[in-house]
Amino acid sequence: MSNATRDGRLWRPDFLVAIDARKCIGCGRCFKVCGRDVMTLKGLNEEGELVALDDDEDDEIEKKVMVMNDAGACIGCGACARVCPTNCQTHAPA
Ligand code: SF4
Ligand code: SF4
Repeated sequence: MSNATRDGRLWRPDFLVAIDARKCIGCGRCFKVCGRDVMTLKGLNEEGELVALDDDEDDEIEKKVMVMNDAGACIGCGACARVCPTNCQTHAPA
């Protein structure tokens, strides 16, 4: 695995490993900047369960939260961390 930038400088990926649903406000900023489809927006219902977002279930949803969709696709660019207003993401090297 290469850990270098284009011109060979050392680059240490900082992968997204978790999103704290208690702190996430579902703003979608991280989703917009991620080019790897690592995250997806879900609903949290009153029981604290994650549910798909569709019109039928909107009544039951307490809030929207970003969750990991395909963690293995992350390249550790760190863009999502820079735009998150609530600092609810955890990043770590491989
Ligand atoms: S670190 Fe980069 S690739 Fe990984 S989830 Fe965040 S924006 Fe996407
Ligand atoms: S940027 Fe932060 S607060 Fe906004 S949806 Fe992503 S993880 Fe949640």
